Amino acid sequence: MVIAYATSYCARDGMAAQQHTVDILVVGSGAGAMTAALRAACENKSVLIVEKAAKYGGTSATSGGGLWIPCNHLLPSVGIDDSRDNALKYLRQLCGTDVANRSIEAFVDNGRRMLEWLEENSHVRYMAMQHYADYYQELDGAAPGGRSIDPYPYSAQELGDEFLNMQDNHVQTKVMGMMGYTNIEGAILLSKSPGWFRLVLKLALDYFMDIPGRLKSRKSRRLTMGNALIGRLRRSLLDKNVPLWLNSPAKSLLVENGRVCGAVIERAGERLEVRADAVVLGSGGFEHNQTLREQYLPQPTQAEWSSASPTNTGDMLLAGLEAGAATHLMDEAWWGPSITLPGEDRSRQLFTERSMPGCIMVNRAGKRFFNESVAYTTAVQAMQKSGNTPAYVIFDSRYKREYPFGPLLPDAMHLNWLQPSRFKHILTSASSIDALATKLGISGSLSETVSRFNTFAAQGKDQDFKRGENAYDLLYGDVRISPNPCLAPIEEGPFYAMEVYPGDIGTKGGLLTNEYAQVLDTSGAPIAGLYAIGNTAASVTGRYYPGAGATLGPAMTFGFIAAEHAVSG
Ligand SMILES: Cc1cc2nc3c(=O)[nH]c(=O)nc-3n(C[C@H](O)[C@H](O)[C@H](O)COP(=O)(O)OP(=O)(O)OC[C@H]3O[C@@H](n4cnc5c(N)ncnc54)[C@H](O)[C@@H]3O)c2cc1C
Repeated sequence: MVIAYATSYCARDGMAAQQHTVDILVVGSGAGAMTAALRAACENKSVLIVEKAAKYGGTSATSGGGLWIPCNHLLPSVGIDDSRDNALKYLRQLCGTDVANRSIEAFVDNGRRMLEWLEENSHVRYMAMQHYADYYQELDGAAPGGRSIDPYPYSAQELGDEFLNMQDNHVQTKVMGMMGYTNIEGAILLSKSPGWFRLVLKLALDYFMDIPGRLKSRKSRRLTMGNALIGRLRRSLLDKNVPLWLNSPAKSLLVENGRVCGAVIERAGERLEVRADAVVLGSGGFEHNQTLREQYLPQPTQAEWSSASPTNTGDMLLAGLEAGAATHLMDEAWWGPSITLPGEDRSRQLFTERSMPGCIMVNRAGKRFFNESVAYTTAVQAMQKSGNTPAYVIFDSRYKREYPFGPLLPDAMHLNWLQPSRFKHILTSASSIDALATKLGISGSLSETVSRFNTFAAQGKDQDFKRGENAYDLLYGDVRISPNPCLAPIEEGPFYAMEVYPGDIGTKGGLLTNEYAQVLDTSGAPIAGLYAIGNTAASVTGRYYPGAGATLGPAMTFGFIAAEHAVSG
């Protein structure tokens, strides 16, 4: 394939600017952006990816890499049936009032096609997560598992030196900040399912026995989760000679006669005009733009509560607005209860800790206010009700001995002495629940809440919030605890607490798009030449999070759709 760049100089606004010409310009290097680039490159189009950060992959590289793809072709391998009707029924209940039906159908109809295409035309490989249930089990059409899929690990050696240019995994997706694990392995470890200890040993052995890798860095060469996905996509793009410019932020869009015909890129201090038949914006959301957060998101809100990539500051959202684009769902995010730790540039998510037995979450009045085992977006939706921010996660010494919490490994592993000293004091502790409440400044009776919860734990029935009564809750329960794997008493001192904030793993409002991922203007007409995907676009799943992988699944599907539309137009 020939990648043709026309390079010339033009005078614009009195400034000489170097000019490049490609067929398709992709802004951002997350999974959706890379999928769009690859799809277009496979149609023999010249494609350029520009990335603002010094490393490629964005939040996608730091993510779990899971995709939520209804009716995917891997479902039969885990014995689960799915149908278009069921998927549409489920999604329409969740987002039918917020999202155009044509877009919902485009996602369901093209998700499987995108995945099959990638498996045939790239290095991307996935396995179905049999037990990863959709997040709203009570709704018609919810699946008990299998719509969420997990990337196969990948060897960093396949990437050569380009491995070093990839964003590292989020620190919370590695044991002790070192060893990665797949989502399926993570579920085994956390629920202490049979074989969990053998798995820990195997992960440690693989990591420490990779002597050449260890001599180079702490970074594991067994890529998992988002690193596996982005590594596989990057390898596929390298095979097609698709250039990816790092440290090259897009600054604005070039618009002529109502058509977007490229973007201004800053590269090595130079202003370049990259002209293109189509521009695909995959530059993430506005997670780390405090001004935009305060303008659009529910209050209180802090950029530091986000676990997304710090370079996602809504640049192309603003450029889209300047080009006349409409926006939608701007008050929404992929919410997640977060904790912030000293010395880290993004928050950590409490995806699983809340569900393990022997902990509760309470508000400032010392009251539980929701089922702690629900999925992360639902958890923050509960925290956003008055009086629930910050919330406190409370647990006892048995919990601390048995389960990981944030950066801390289970005490029983006796490895926390290896942790950086800045983690030593992240928890508030006290010898009694009353003393803990006093230290936290909790106004109501935390002791009453704990003893009521302990009664439920003994019965195995959470009479207030039904924790542990559906397939999703049980995913991160402890299978050794009965009758309810999500409930155990909080009774063994000392007792511990940590403040939790309504954070996110990405914003989900953005430029309004149609079923082809074309950006729409305020009159509802497509802006010619402009596409938006991922968190730059308003989400196809509206205000909800249908299941694990529901941010990357649609991002990649609409990246795929955008590329097909752009190359055919
Ligand atoms: C710990 C964690 C686990 C997660 N697990 C999952 C999961 O398993 N499944 C799932 O679906 N979601 C998951 N998510 C959420 C998911 O990672 C994000 O929603 C998703 O990656 C967003 O994709 P994106 O392409 O919109 O943005 P990103 O992947 O963040 O990519 C945007 C890129 O654009 C670049 N950029 C920004 N501005 C510019 C500019 N002006 N010019 C050029 N480049 C620019 C950024 O630097 C960045 O590299 C997780 C998130 C976290 C933090």
